Amino acid sequence: MTAADAAARLFRDTFGDEPQGVWSAPGRVNLIGEHTDYNGGLCLPIALPHRTYAALRRRDDRHLRIVSAQGDAVVELDLSDVGAGSPDGWAAYVAGVPWALERAGHPVGGFDVAIDGRVPLGAGLSSSAALECAVAAALSDVFGLGLLDSASGRVALAAVCVEAENTVAQAPTGGMDQSASLLAEQGHALLLDCRDFSTEQVPFDLDQHGLALLVVDTRAVHELVDGQYAERRDSCEQAARELGVNTLRDVDADGLDTALGQLSSDLLRKRTKHVVTEIARVEEAREALRGEDFDRLGALFLASHDSMRDDFEISVEELDTAVTSATEAGALGARMTGGGFGGSAIALVRRDDAATVQAAVEKAFADKGFRSPECFVVSAAGPAGRDL
Ligand code: ADP
Ligand code: MG
Repeated sequence: MTAADAAARLFRDTFGDEPQGVWSAPGRVNLIGEHTDYNGGLCLPIALPHRTYAALRRRDDRHLRIVSAQGDAVVELDLSDVGAGSPDGWAAYVAGVPWALERAGHPVGGFDVAIDGRVPLGAGLSSSAALECAVAAALSDVFGLGLLDSASGRVALAAVCVEAENTVAQAPTGGMDQSASLLAEQGHALLLDCRDFSTEQVPFDLDQHGLALLVVDTRAVHELVDGQYAERRDSCEQAARELGVNTLRDVDADGLDTALGQLSSDLLRKRTKHVVTEIARVEEAREALRGEDFDRLGALFLASHDSMRDDFEISVEELDTAVTSATEAGALGARMTGGGFGGSAIALVRRDDAATVQAAVEKAFADKGFRSPECFVVSAAGPAGRDL
């Protein structure tokens, strides 16, 4: 049974009715450009083959009934009761979407929905955006909003999903995840400019070059992740204020040394250095991909990882171990990806080396007594849409 069929079956079993259809949206992995989105910078995610499925039927009232194969009981509430921080728990990622659609002026109403998520939860691969975007895709179709039909409609849907996650689920997120899930094309990476949310599709067909991307979900659990994210965001905003710019995007790589000299602490200097050099690395990565220079891309991965470990200080031992062991086993490059303090790393490998690199990473984790990681090879998949 396909995952779309499984979501439809969960709908039937739970609500005793047929769904109107099944929609899905992918998780994402960011190739490079970390903690740049909220600084108005650049990032370069791909959509994963792993998707979250939503079987949905609209209702004539404003009631919401939500069930998930990865959740516990059915959650029932009225759309009029959705707001900042309410409901709490996982259902916020679903209920926040119609709430944000209404706030953006799109007429929607109640619905029943059954979710089946195939993006690993909390692995830094953006199961949260996959969930929001699958629901958003479904609501756009069943309420006739037509937002999936154009790039500008998809950009608007992404903004709605960001608002749902920030306000209703109360999780700070900068927009990369939702944009990737709604806009990334198969065989391409999405260059996203978070200053104006403009996008560019960059060819990323590793298969053609005998290469593969290995994702290592470290399954590392670290405390205080949310506090750390907020602290990094605050530091970047403070640095921008001290420099008299809107966001750190406005600091030129050429003028970095001058800018660093104007900051009030070593901490702000390190944070700023990461963001400014990371944005420059995204631009270089785009050129590397356009020139099919994968050795250069691998070198950029490694430079990015060093910057996150030493200057932005968001790596942990499991991520460093994944990067070091993958590189020693022959990867062209590797880096942690996502917000940090756990989650996943990626390694660019020759396809024939993928199994060797994976075994080396697993052995390094075992030697250090870490939980065994979850590894999978991915290619750039397509965006949110209707399945059934
Ligand atoms: P990530 O997005 O990296 O996976 P987050 O912490 O942002 O990590 O989002 C994970 C949260 O999203 C889960 O704890 C849960 O609340 C919610 N979620 C994601 N997918 C599902 C799903 N299929 N069913 C229920 N909740 C989900
Ligand atoms: Mg998330």
